[in-house]
Amino acid sequence: MRLYLLFLLSSMNLWAFSQNEKVITIPVVVHVLYNQSHENITEDQIRSQLDAINADFSRSNTDFSNVPAVFAKVSATVNIQFELAVSDPQGRSTNGIIRKRTTRLMWSDDDKIKSSSFGGSDAWDPSRYLNVWICNTVPGLSGYASLPNSDPKKDGVVIRYDAFGTRGAVVAPFNKGRTMTHEVGHWLGLKHLWGDTPCGDDGIQDTPRQRGGNTGSPVFPKITVCNGTPHGEMFMNFMDFTNDASMGMFTEGQKNVMRSNFNPGASRYSLTQSNALSPASSSAIAPVEVTATTIAIYPNPVVGNSFQLQLKTGGGSIGKHYAIIASNGQIVQTGYIQQSSTRISVGYLAPGIYQVRLTDVESNQYTKFIKQ
Ligand SMILES: [Zn+2]
Repeated sequence: MRLYLLFLLSSMNLWAFSQNEKVITIPVVVHVLYNQSHENITEDQIRSQLDAINADFSRSNTDFSNVPAVFAKVSATVNIQFELAVSDPQGRSTNGIIRKRTTRLMWSDDDKIKSSSFGGSDAWDPSRYLNVWICNTVPGLSGYASLPNSDPKKDGVVIRYDAFGTRGAVVAPFNKGRTMTHEVGHWLGLKHLWGDTPCGDDGIQDTPRQRGGNTGSPVFPKITVCNGTPHGEMFMNFMDFTNDASMGMFTEGQKNVMRSNFNPGASRYSLTQSNALSPASSSAIAPVEVTATTIAIYPNPVVGNSFQLQLKTGGGSIGKHYAIIASNGQIVQTGYIQQSSTRISVGYLAPGIYQVRLTDVESNQYTKFIKQ
């Protein structure tokens, strides 16, 4: 009876501990570099990738059920999540996606894609963002990653456009988003299970030794000369080279290595303090609100299906573009000011507070309105 109670208490403590574990959320910026239009992948494809990696890092991937029970016992809910940034490094609203046409047909792992001087796209501050570059890569390369404590200008992961996400331009067998899951594993300090040496080790206790990288769709159990256990190699681990559909887990040991990067003082701790997932705050842009004297909205609150955008100080803004931005930072409408008073239709907008910004004015002038 006592033993039973002790067991019950200790498992309750474990349960409480795991319930209290903090989910770490990483702001992501995706740089899409394209030469051919099909390489300019859709936002839907990008979002399908985030859904996939978030499932893998929360052990809610539907194919986790394929993991053999003996390995499922050491599998982990990593509790790290990834979201597109909503604020850019200057504190302005963003959808977290940069698109850039390039004259280069393909990219290797020489990091040139991370530099605008080579036709690539410069990293956003890696202490606040996970940078992801999407491009056409040289044959045989589906992606690569920088390790913790690497050159900040080159920090992030590069993924081939057709091995990213689960929809759109994605091509089997790398069509379940596992290239990013694998590369982010490296970005958080994980090695391949065989440590890149024959019969080697990754330094993690609960992953078995492997002869080398597995490819294709191995059958369980896969026993090799350097892996004498009856269960064989853990080829369904995300840090192997198997097809996306054959993968499904990280271990507790791998989780501990990955999460340790976010401890205070550790290499990626600053990402936990990033404000890139907070909508561009009104306090951050308050200093330029004085320039709202140049534009005004009538009536405000907007009660009907449209409002009048009035330029108060003459025609200085005629010819400028404007954007209407919702409180979550999303741009919901854009247009062009043709005269000093312009009627703008917003009947489709949900009730709420919106900004109207002059988007090609240096100081990013804006004013707010309430849609009722
Ligand atoms: Zn790798």
